[in-house]
Amino acid sequence: MKQFEEAGTIIRKLKEAGYEAYFVGGSVRDYMLGRPIGDIDIATSALPEEVMQLFPKHIPVGLQHGTVIVLYNDMPYEVTTYRTESGYEDFRRPNEVTFVRSLQEDLQRRDFTMNAIAMTEDGTIVDPFHGKQALDNKIIKTVGEPSERFQEDALRMMRGVRFVSALGFTLEQETKQAILQHAPLLLHISIERIAVEFEKLLLGAYPERALSILVETHLHLYLPGFEKKEAELLQATSYAWKYIQNDIAAWTLLLHLAGLDAGILKNWKLSNKKLKAVTKALAFLQQRFIKNWSAEMLYEAGKETVALVETIYAVLHRHEPVIKGVIATYNGLPIHNRQQLQVSGRDLLEWTDQPGGPWTAQLLNEIEHAVLQGDVSNVREHIKEWVKCKLQ
Ligand code: ATP
Ligand code: MG
Repeated sequence: MKQFEEAGTIIRKLKEAGYEAYFVGGSVRDYMLGRPIGDIDIATSALPEEVMQLFPKHIPVGLQHGTVIVLYNDMPYEVTTYRTESGYEDFRRPNEVTFVRSLQEDLQRRDFTMNAIAMTEDGTIVDPFHGKQALDNKIIKTVGEPSERFQEDALRMMRGVRFVSALGFTLEQETKQAILQHAPLLLHISIERIAVEFEKLLLGAYPERALSILVETHLHLYLPGFEKKEAELLQATSYAWKYIQNDIAAWTLLLHLAGLDAGILKNWKLSNKKLKAVTKALAFLQQRFIKNWSAEMLYEAGKETVALVETIYAVLHRHEPVIKGVIATYNGLPIHNRQQLQVSGRDLLEWTDQPGGPWTAQLLNEIEHAVLQGDVSNVREHIKEWVKCKLQ
């Protein structure tokens, strides 16, 4: 695995300096599953200052949590000092961490056994909590007592369900029971952190399974807007989520199915940009239910929203999405934005010899629509003729 080879250099350098260092977390898990790996995390006995001294090219991103990003061949690697998390308050991750010198202690604070496997740079596995066995059995299980671990940090419950969606694994019975028991603790977790996990859940390979577990474990009661939407969430599990490729599409489909307005995304503290995009997609989805795409609809929606809405429309009708045709029609529109119009307000003033006023904007609008409809071609002289006829 090329990515590990590159990062192996960082581990070797730490070891040469007398420290321990291992690959840990999601990349080890995904590597063992034969899945594409994401960010590579390294755990080390070296303290953050020691890491920064060894690697001049670094970004001190989370020193209080022991994390330094080391840049190697322009790639970022998170190097985190072995730590435990003591003094959990309010069922949230602790504001205080204690650096420790043993790998075992560091692995012990991790959420699930499959995420608590360490690997040396030559591929040897260190697995005190039997994460490999969990991977083989496709089981998600907390390191230690699930009740305790969820009381320490309630976000882990959402993480567990989002891993169901990512991997298609099963929550171990005791872990699932503990989620049902402790679901209300989610109230202590910031909505921003919940939203990160929830969006990952919607975009996983098995969101159907995860959505039904959310209802089963009552976690849905703590998701803004979905408190009384168990029927809708369960209904949502029957659709082909595999065609949903990004967060905007996921929210659009989910809100549509739940009969919710995009305004609810304010409660999720999502960005205004996202809120706007979902609002727009929901509106065009409504229009699409009433009629097929017109030139005006395509133009106003824009390519991205057209593709997204058409995909969701097909998913809702349980068809395989085929968006090629509608995209070809979109591409064939005479113009795609106002700037492409071959005339400007100044032309209108010149041609008509009238003082400017609201009429220019209105006439430009009419020209824009006429061009879109194919009533006049987007050629200056043709538009000039068309305007003259119109004003006669
Ligand atoms: P992904 O592939 O989606 O990034 P990941 O397992 O790498 O999954 P991260 O959120 O990147 O997840 O976290 C990296 C590692 O840190 C996890 O594998 C886990 O060992 C540990 N971890 C993250 N969040 C928690 C938490 N809330 N409680 C305990 N350990 C955690
Ligand atoms: Mg990760």
